[in-house]
Amino acid sequence: MIIDIHTHMLDIFNNKSNGSTYCDLNKIKRHIKFLSQTFNDDVFVSVLSIEPFCKFKDIYNLSLKEPRILPFISADFTIPESERLAKLEKYAPYSYGLKIHTIIQNVEFDSIELRNVIELYSKFNKPIIFHSGCCDYSYLTNKVYYDEKKSNALKALQLVKSFPSVKFIMAHAGLIEKDYWAQNFKGIENIYADTSFEYDYELKKTKENYSIFKILYGSDFPFDRSKSSIKDIVNAFDSNELKQVFSENALKLLNVSEKDLLLRCKKSHSEFVKKRIN
Ligand SMILES: [Zn+2]
Repeated sequence: MIIDIHTHMLDIFNNKSNGSTYCDLNKIKRHIKFLSQTFNDDVFVSVLSIEPFCKFKDIYNLSLKEPRILPFISADFTIPESERLAKLEKYAPYSYGLKIHTIIQNVEFDSIELRNVIELYSKFNKPIIFHSGCCDYSYLTNKVYYDEKKSNALKALQLVKSFPSVKFIMAHAGLIEKDYWAQNFKGIENIYADTSFEYDYELKKTKENYSIFKILYGSDFPFDRSKSSIKDIVNAFDSNELKQVFSENALKLLNVSEKDLLLRCKKSHSEFVKKRIN
């Protein structure tokens, strides 16, 4: 089995059904098909919502049509807190994890709003994936997103340390500041890293810093370079390690078995439709 822990659908910046950041159901299906043909194996992909732009209910409802999509929820920081937490609590059982993107969602790692979201979600015992590393999305959108303050590694570190029972996934393992992040996160048990945008020599370093059990395959589709990044992963790990990176670590973290996931594909379409979120 192959699990891609980090993919996106729809438009994560604008919630518009066009433009370069738009990924529809057919596009994600092509990604799933590409992976299953490459590995000749069953494939599941976590699709991360980023409220208010890319809504959990939309991802969830699409996962009813394509059960290989594992929907991740997110909190909407643009609505009043009581409403935000009530919505999160109501839909969290339908999710496989929570996504936080402090830059796109305009929220800081040390804010009380974010802490309250994590506090609430922690009782569901599911992982939380957060964006890490400075990045500039202006090549994809008209907006300027570059924000060093909101991707501050030390603030993220304090947050991760203050919720030791919550398992956090650091998306992209820190991007260009990965050495700095690695130094700070070394020895912390509840932090994981995904492989997106890492070259083989960087993945080898990530293995030294986080241990092989903490590394998860993530593509960041549709922003990825799928073919070459798979080559990088294959170059960086031996065959046992590859099994861990491509599925075993993710299964443990998501707290599901291969059988659980395969059952999603066997359920009849009508059974899924009954559970639609409106
Ligand atoms: Zn991403």
